[in-house]
Amino acid sequence: MRKCDVVIVGGGPGGSACAWELKRQGLDTVVLDRAAFPRLKLCAGWVTPQVIEDLKLDINKYPHSFMTFDRIHAHIKGLKLKLNTTQHSIRRYEFDNYLLGRSISEVHQHHVKKIERKDGCYWVDNKFCAPYIVGAGGTKCPVYRTIFRESNPRAKELQTVTFEYEFSYDWEDPDCHLWFFMNGLPGYSWYVPKANGYVNVGIGGMADKLKRKGGDIKTYWRKFIELLGTNGKVRNVRYEPTGYSYYVRGNVDKIRVDNAFIVGDSIGLATRDLCEGIGPAVHSGIEAARAIVHGHTYDLQDLIRHSAENRLLGKVMERLMVGRQR
Ligand SMILES: Cc1cc2nc3c(=O)[nH]c(=O)nc-3n(C[C@H](O)[C@H](O)[C@H](O)COP(=O)(O)OP(=O)(O)OC[C@H]3O[C@@H](n4cnc5c(N)ncnc54)[C@H](O)[C@@H]3O)c2cc1C
Repeated sequence: MRKCDVVIVGGGPGGSACAWELKRQGLDTVVLDRAAFPRLKLCAGWVTPQVIEDLKLDINKYPHSFMTFDRIHAHIKGLKLKLNTTQHSIRRYEFDNYLLGRSISEVHQHHVKKIERKDGCYWVDNKFCAPYIVGAGGTKCPVYRTIFRESNPRAKELQTVTFEYEFSYDWEDPDCHLWFFMNGLPGYSWYVPKANGYVNVGIGGMADKLKRKGGDIKTYWRKFIELLGTNGKVRNVRYEPTGYSYYVRGNVDKIRVDNAFIVGDSIGLATRDLCEGIGPAVHSGIEAARAIVHGHTYDLQDLIRHSAENRLLGKVMERLMVGRQR
């Protein structure tokens, strides 16, 4: 049995950011992840300058694929908008492994099943025990399931459904493109080029709206890859897409119960306009660590709800994506 100060379940951006901050403050931290890193994570891999700042990343020293865009092309019902903004792209396969390594934490490949609280400690599968536990296990997080689900049930209206594929490709267009509400999709599709010859393409939308329309994500996907062929962004690729689901931010009532904390997708923190989850996962991971170290309140009041820098645009997009949900 391994005893430590904090056990973190999940080594994605939320878990590794938390571990990084805890280690910097000298706490004995163990990260448990069911996957062996580097691991595949479905994600477009678009990150904001805020993520780089929160993680104090020196992008000149980042040893993997990293690209910066000075604009994004938004396509909305035949309208083309060029949005001047600075954004980055990374490959999650590389980025997550790099962040976890940088946290210099003890990492165990372990699929967490059972969490119990005995004698003031959290016991994980009777193998690991700590007075603090952090749930960073994404949508299927066992800490959420065991400790937080009852007080924070997930609203089905806030669930996303996605389908995507990342592949090696000699792209010609170095810009990021987003197609909103194409063919009636309650969401958007993307083309995100990556450094070192990779591209990520995908579609995502609100699951409940899609269901009510009687739609199927695979039908929208087929139409999207047809478009990528016609507009010349991607040609002659054999797609092997996969799907994943996560939650955008609702009213998160309880993010701490006794000495258990929850961060990132486990609690559903992605933005309500563009479903951006890396930034909120990193931010909440660092905040949870600080609350543990300094004993102050774990508070996510200042966590962004929108990705759009323009407040009004963010609100309009939110309304179109999730409607009036709480
Ligand atoms: C198709 C798609 C595209 C996306 N594009 C973007 C984007 O471009 N930009 C953006 O900001 N966000 C994007 N997101 C959202 C973003 O990927 C997530 O919000 C982000 O990964 C959340 O980080 P996390 O650390 O909370 O969880 P995760 O990254 O999901 O990490 C959770 C970890 O927990 C582990 N785990 C799960 N269960 C257990 C268990 N029982 N025991 C041990 N370990 C466990 C998993 O193996 C995983 O490594 C996208 C999501 C999808 C699906």
